[in-house]
Amino acid sequence: MIIVMKSGTPEMEVERISREMMDWGLTPEKIIGKHKVVIGLVGETAELDPLQIKENSPWIEQVLRVEQPFKRVSREFRHNEPSEVAISTPNGRVYIGEAHPIAIVAGPCSVENEAMIIETARRVKAAGGQFLRGGAYKPRTSPYAFQGHGESALELLAAARAATGLGIITEVMDAADLDKIAEVADVIQVGARNMQNFSLLKRVGAQEKPVLLKRGMAATIEDWLMAAEYILAAGNPNVILCERGIRTFDRQYTRNTLDLSVIPVLRSLTHLPIMVDPSHGTGWADYVPSMAKAAIAAGTDALMIEVHPNPAKALSDGPQSLTPDQFDQLTQELAIFGQSVNRWPQVAVALS
Ligand code: PEP
Ligand code: MN
Repeated sequence: MIIVMKSGTPEMEVERISREMMDWGLTPEKIIGKHKVVIGLVGETAELDPLQIKENSPWIEQVLRVEQPFKRVSREFRHNEPSEVAISTPNGRVYIGEAHPIAIVAGPCSVENEAMIIETARRVKAAGGQFLRGGAYKPRTSPYAFQGHGESALELLAAARAATGLGIITEVMDAADLDKIAEVADVIQVGARNMQNFSLLKRVGAQEKPVLLKRGMAATIEDWLMAAEYILAAGNPNVILCERGIRTFDRQYTRNTLDLSVIPVLRSLTHLPIMVDPSHGTGWADYVPSMAKAAIAAGTDALMIEVHPNPAKALSDGPQSLTPDQFDQLTQELAIFGQSVNRWPQVAVALS
């Protein structure tokens, strides 16, 4: 349920109503929008009468039920106000969200050694990316496949961050590694295979770094939003959803089916920012550029693209990785698409 306050409601009145809702056994969350303040209510609201709440104050404009099973992440919970995730990087604060330029995240599937990660980071930076994404702990289908270098790879990510100023995104697989990952990462990735690892979701929800939640390969949209709800319910509102392809019936020509139609659907259901990963989404470098452009046309807030200095020798996901030259070429092409929807960094700078 949400309480929409009239514009100009005194702060003390919002506080008074929030306290009263706590007395009713509910958890109020204040959401300050551009024009209005909304009090989101979580708890046993089924039996409550919206009219009875409205009678509490002449400053209450409306009391509305959130009909979806996901509450905090639903678009209704913020009365249609999109949320944004602000990420501090050495190069400055980057915002990911509907009202901001499209953020570019790129890097190798796994951090293999110092030379490759620094070289990739420099090329990502030069091409205009804001984040370096590289895996230290890798979720691999086979226990015999390269599992990532773990802690030593975190040090290499820290070195790449220092060398380029890019923000770092890396995956957590085991809650026991969370603290050391959070020391290096600006955003913590929860991968597709852990999307419904509820104890891990609670742990990332109880820490402060923003979380990138990838869609499980067989997750419905509701499964995914309920997983995000776990993170918000645990106290962390900074969640970005990443579409990375789902399993359908063809595995011969594509690794996954990139569900681009999920972008407008998510837009209607949630206020959370959206990222698209066409690399895992297709599994093949040749298909990445067209899907990246299509994701921009469909309204994504960010892109994640795998880039490796020598894809043929990559220890994981080589076939879907672009070379730095290909990535450079792609970002030049993406700029045209980004500008056409008025969401490319240079445009934002020029206009501000
Ligand atoms: C990755 O980002 O490298 C990765 C393993 O992705 P996903 O969890 O989407 O498979
Ligand atoms: Mn990968």
